[in-house]
Amino acid sequence: MKHTHYNHSNSGILMSPMFTKFHGKKMPLRNSFVVFILMLLFSCQEDAVAPVKEPNPLMGYLESFLEEAEKRGVEIDTSGLVLVLVDVVYPGASLCGLGNKRLPGLPPEVRICKICACWVNGTSYYRNELLFHEFGHALLGRLHDNGKLPNGSKKSIMNESASGSSFWQGEERLKYYIDELFDPSTPVPDWAK
Ligand SMILES: [Zn+2]
Repeated sequence: MKHTHYNHSNSGILMSPMFTKFHGKKMPLRNSFVVFILMLLFSCQEDAVAPVKEPNPLMGYLESFLEEAEKRGVEIDTSGLVLVLVDVVYPGASLCGLGNKRLPGLPPEVRICKICACWVNGTSYYRNELLFHEFGHALLGRLHDNGKLPNGSKKSIMNESASGSSFWQGEERLKYYIDELFDPSTPVPDWAK
């Protein structure tokens, strides 16, 4: 990340004769107050030149994924995770999202296409399911699973097509699909028999 460094020595304040004189003499209370205010001002200025850090718009999805993991006693290592909204997820491919698991020397990575119709027009169910699918690749190391449940429904949201339909059909189904994401051996639920 780019960081704009503000160099105190360039301000001239710390090296100014006025300041050094204060060190040699007994400093009156009023003057020490002025120096304090000056230091405050300059520390404020330092903040002012630092780049404004935009909140990551995908952070809420990660937080909710981590909450679900915690409920199920699954520990997730998010160190170094790259979580970004980009114009192109992968050059030459029209992908809505991409999840790469941690590899030696490479952090886990989730990229979502912010200008693609799937994301722009996607419902909250779709967006949630997409992010959970990509976290499945990136943070759980899961591969695609196009299996079906006995009633023909998708076995997993790790299905190649994340349509949002699995997260959309009520609490009971949502719970199954999240259970299955963290534990692929989750038994077939009653509604799918
Ligand atoms: Zn996938």
